[in-house]
Amino acid sequence: MNPVRTTCPYCGVGCGVLATPDGQGGLTIKGDPVHPANRGRLCVKGAALGETVSTQGRLLTPRIHGTDAPWTQALDLIADRFTDAIAQHGADSVALYVSGQLLTEDYYVANKLMKGFIGSANIDTNSRLCMASSVAGHRRAFGTDTVPGLYEDLELADLVVLTGSNLAWCHPVLHQRLLAARAARPQMKIVVIDPRRTATCEDADLHLPLAPGADGHLFNLLLCHLHDTARTSATFLPHVTGLDAALTAARASRPEDTGLAPDLLQQFLDLWAATDKTVTVYSQGINQSDSGTDKVNAILNCHLATGRIGRPGTGPFSVTGQPNAMGGREVGGLANMLACHLELENPAHRAAVGAFWNAPRMATSPGLKAVDMFRAVEDGRIKALWIIHTNPAVTMPEADRVARAIANCDFTVVSETWPDTDTARLAKVLLPSTAWGEKDGTVTNSERLISRQRAALPPPGEARPDWWQLAQVARRMGFTGFDWTTPTQIFAEHAALSGVAGALGSDFDISDLATADYETLTPTLWPQNHRQKGGRFFATGRFHTPSGRARMIPVSARVADSAPFRLNTGRIRDQWHTMTRTGLAPRLNQHLAEPFLEIHPEDALRLGLAPASLAEVTSENGTAILRTLITPKVQPGHPFAPIHWTGETAPSGRIDALIPGLTDPVSGQPASKSAAVAIRPF
Ligand code: SF4
Repeated sequence: MNPVRTTCPYCGVGCGVLATPDGQGGLTIKGDPVHPANRGRLCVKGAALGETVSTQGRLLTPRIHGTDAPWTQALDLIADRFTDAIAQHGADSVALYVSGQLLTEDYYVANKLMKGFIGSANIDTNSRLCMASSVAGHRRAFGTDTVPGLYEDLELADLVVLTGSNLAWCHPVLHQRLLAARAARPQMKIVVIDPRRTATCEDADLHLPLAPGADGHLFNLLLCHLHDTARTSATFLPHVTGLDAALTAARASRPEDTGLAPDLLQQFLDLWAATDKTVTVYSQGINQSDSGTDKVNAILNCHLATGRIGRPGTGPFSVTGQPNAMGGREVGGLANMLACHLELENPAHRAAVGAFWNAPRMATSPGLKAVDMFRAVEDGRIKALWIIHTNPAVTMPEADRVARAIANCDFTVVSETWPDTDTARLAKVLLPSTAWGEKDGTVTNSERLISRQRAALPPPGEARPDWWQLAQVARRMGFTGFDWTTPTQIFAEHAALSGVAGALGSDFDISDLATADYETLTPTLWPQNHRQKGGRFFATGRFHTPSGRARMIPVSARVADSAPFRLNTGRIRDQWHTMTRTGLAPRLNQHLAEPFLEIHPEDALRLGLAPASLAEVTSENGTAILRTLITPKVQPGHPFAPIHWTGETAPSGRIDALIPGLTDPVSGQPASKSAAVAIRPF
């Protein structure tokens, strides 16, 4: 059989995959040699995709209260319950909680249904847990949520700084591209800023073991150093506002706030200052903080002050965790966004989108962001909740509390591929969704590259796409404009809407793809109107602020309160999210097979923890029992635990049960990287 050109469903690198059906329900997997993101490479997770497509144990029919039911009965029930809740309690009494695993077409339909027809912006996504602080930082600085860089910038740079990013494990193919570029150009330097000595540090020219959470201080000090050594750009600063205020705020940061040895700190400041072609890559270590947006802007400030943005080999670069976190942002699938980078609070933007959709009742104000949404579920304000392709009973902060809230909600629908996830088990109605390999649509990776995800296998049983489920319920609720029969039609509508947005000044305008041949669509960078410049940001010489100038933001850096132990969280190399897919591949389970706690030898000695013994880790929110891994790679007082295990795979290893529901005040992103904990032998 011929290979099907598709994309990997895991991280935001967005690698192209050639998936060849083996005729027995399986797939043979290879990297796509012509996909620009990976050029044939795959990491171990992507390479093992063929081992994860078994339909054994899949959810194959709708279920109502645990009993198989026909689709018509399930869809009628959902439409009735949502309609009743809205009639009795208003539009804000219902909510959708969706996922960066959704395809852009799924996201588009969900967003249109909630914001244009139900009339509430209560749609949020697990991308809130991932990249919301980057979105907020971009919008504050650039006036729009646009990632300024391209992957090739990492290869063209002379200095790549990785902060809050374990790129080697979390975005492996991008890391491989970076190492290959340095091998070809040994003058390139890689600096890793991380409190923990991660796998990424092994390949770095310099590792800065920063005090946990002190990134804002570090980049404030860098801004001061750039100014004081006359490294700011006289030619670029006319495109920027706010330098003086940003500098004034930055002066409050002190070298000792970073926890770095003075000579190491100076080495970093001098290297960054002296290297024009610098890219700063950042990820969850920056975003998942109660001051994540400020940390993002502290990084952006340094690039704006030096004009290291919008040119090859330069720029701040947020690498997204999920395969389609970017596509969700493009359709506006977050509670505080509209569509196509338009603004929910802007009446002209709302009117234009409402007219395009022929929408009866547009949402007029932001909806509930993830943490607040589940608080509203808990206290009964949300009467009907639809969760699609995500597992908040494991992944949300205060996961035990969130699980109880979902269980007690009047009416919960869950669209899933598996019937036994922690969240699926709590559903009143469970809908069988198509999975990767069966789904058809588009995704956008971290560098704004839109790629097709194509079906290579038939849907099993009665599994249906998420967009179809949403459209069927919308039609049953009496709404028009949900008559698509293919994802092609949805993408064309989304692309056409982006033309409306472009006319209003949005930089997200892919309207020339509205008539493109969807079946043969090749990976395409946006901004489309800059395509001749290779999708380069700032090609017009203007930012998307009213003045056309980027905004530097004053950052009052701070770190989390001290505690005897502050747990650091993250991923491991071979698992993805809650392991629903990667857990199916035996070779991926061999890497690190059970939940664990990395702890410094001094801490282990003081607590009486022996190697490989069990430790009880307790926060004010919950408890986990973890295998002890004693290592100097973590700092004293700052143990580390990975996030992947669930109530199904290791009930005592649910790390997000320990995390407080603390959020960044600007982005609403939870501070999932860190929790104050107590530790004792179990
Ligand atoms: Fe998939 Fe990311 Fe690995 Fe590429 S790097 S194969 S997108 S998990």
